[in-house]
Amino acid sequence: MKRLIRRDGAACKACGSKNDLTIDHIDPTSFGGAILDPENMQLLCKWCNSEKSREEESRHKIITSMNLRFMEERERVAPARFAPHRPSASAWG
Ligand SMILES: [Zn+2]
Repeated sequence: MKRLIRRDGAACKACGSKNDLTIDHIDPTSFGGAILDPENMQLLCKWCNSEKSREEESRHKIITSMNLRFMEERERVAPARFAPHRPSASAWG
C-alpha cells in the first residue's frame, strides 16, 4: 500500500485532495477487476470514489444490456463463423 501512496503522491488521482483518501480499484472488483493488483489500484478521495462508483454502476448496466444483445446475435448466426482459425499450409514454409 505504501508503494501505491508513493506512486500516486498521497493525493486523490482525480482532484488532488489529500483528505479522506481511499484506495480505489480502477477496474471494480465487483465487476471482475483484480483485487490485489497494484496496477488496478489508485488513490481517490472519498468524494471522487463515490462519484466514480455511481458512474460505473450506470455504465455497467449499459454494458450488460449490450453484451446480452451481442450474445443473442451470436446465437442466431452460424457457429461456423466463430470456428478457430487454422494456420494455412504456407505458414509452414
Ligand atoms: Zn478527489
